[in-house]
Amino acid sequence: MFDYLIVGAGFSGSVLAERIASQLDKKVLIVDKRNHIGGNAYDFYDENGILVHKYGPHIFHTNSKKVIDYLSQFTEWRPYFHKVLAIVEGKKVPIPFNLNSIYKLFPEKYANKLEEELIKTFGYGQKVPILKLKETSNLELKFLADYIYDNVFYGYTLKQWELKPEELDPSVTARVPVYISRDNRYFQDTYQLMPKDGYTRMFERMLSHKNIKIMLKTDYKEIIDVIKFDKLIFTGPIDEFFNYQFGQLPYRSLVFDFQTLNFENYQEVGQVNYPNNNSFTRITEFKYLTGQKSLTTSIAYEYPIKYEINSNLIPYYPIPQKENNELYLKYLSESKKLKKVIFCGRLADYKYYNMDQIVARALTVFEKEVII
Ligand code: FAD
Ligand code: UDP
Repeated sequence: MFDYLIVGAGFSGSVLAERIASQLDKKVLIVDKRNHIGGNAYDFYDENGILVHKYGPHIFHTNSKKVIDYLSQFTEWRPYFHKVLAIVEGKKVPIPFNLNSIYKLFPEKYANKLEEELIKTFGYGQKVPILKLKETSNLELKFLADYIYDNVFYGYTLKQWELKPEELDPSVTARVPVYISRDNRYFQDTYQLMPKDGYTRMFERMLSHKNIKIMLKTDYKEIIDVIKFDKLIFTGPIDEFFNYQFGQLPYRSLVFDFQTLNFENYQEVGQVNYPNNNSFTRITEFKYLTGQKSLTTSIAYEYPIKYEINSNLIPYYPIPQKENNELYLKYLSESKKLKKVIFCGRLADYKYYNMDQIVARALTVFEKEVII
């Protein structure tokens, strides 16, 4: 007999399992259909000895001391500032697109003028989402906005989402705003750290509690009728939970091509984006993320693809659009009728959460919905 059955051993399920087991001294069964814990943050050592992320590059960054303090119980950290370059007109320029990117692409005199206009209009250090910059009435800045839109956002977004930037919720492209700065880091958060021994090791420590039992390679539907439990926490896709009764929520998936190369480095930074050419969006070189030294290197190409149910694909990204959110709200209102089921997670909440946001969300769910 378990107090809680938790579906999904990713961040949301694991944080909740840990809190319930350690703070409430209650018994938890955590079940995952994959053959490992960690959800999409799972990492492992490949045949090359490099710690790679099976489901794409996961870079930890947050402004929340609460989240860092919580996770620090289960891991030590290694400082890491993620850097990204994009190939634009054959040149490699820093992303988020910043003042250095301008100087790489335009003659110095014109770059000076653009810098001056940007600082005069928005101020040094400001972040301006591309869709906002495109609204400018300043002719020079309008030229710049159209240039960045065409060369950095349009092709990448079409590949990633099969949508144009303006067809998505503006928050999606605002994740990577034009940055009026010389700072080439991808993020500016207070804490930019990677778990020292990897994500999987951190999850192992979170879940190694006498009150937690882990069951892998099992869909919860296979066991729900035979396991006795009091409450259910569901972190998978909410539409699947309700048998798609209002219709399917759309998701984007990815196919990864991992390669091992017999030289020390493939690219100059951890991530290079290909907004315009090729059918992949980006290449990650993992040793930058882990800080490992080795004579060989491991990289992964990412090919976006539409998610189909009953395929081998994984629903990685909810698609932030008004109509999808409206459909999600129908499922949300259905979920409120279930007194013994809690929904929490990137797929269960249908929200484009980063890791720190889902940890914060799971901690809040624990405080507000579990302890009652
Ligand atoms: P998940 O990790 O998806 O866990 C849900 C689990 O539920 C899965 O393991 C799944 O197998 C299981 N499950 C689902 N249905 C069932 C079922 N029926 N029965 C049993 N088990 C089930 N965030 C960052 O902060 N930084 C990054 O750099 C970053 N990069 C990312 C890159 C990619 C390509 C992706 C896809 C995401 C990235 N994220 C990043 C986001 C991060 O992965 C998520 O915020 C986080 O993993 C969400 O955790 P979760 O527990 O909600 O979901
Ligand atoms: N984006 C883009 N070009 C880039 C980087 C990002 O068009 O070079 C857009 C694209 O729509 C992408 C979104 O910004 O899906 C968010 O990018 P982010 O790097 O945050 O995506 P994630 O790491 O979550 O896949």
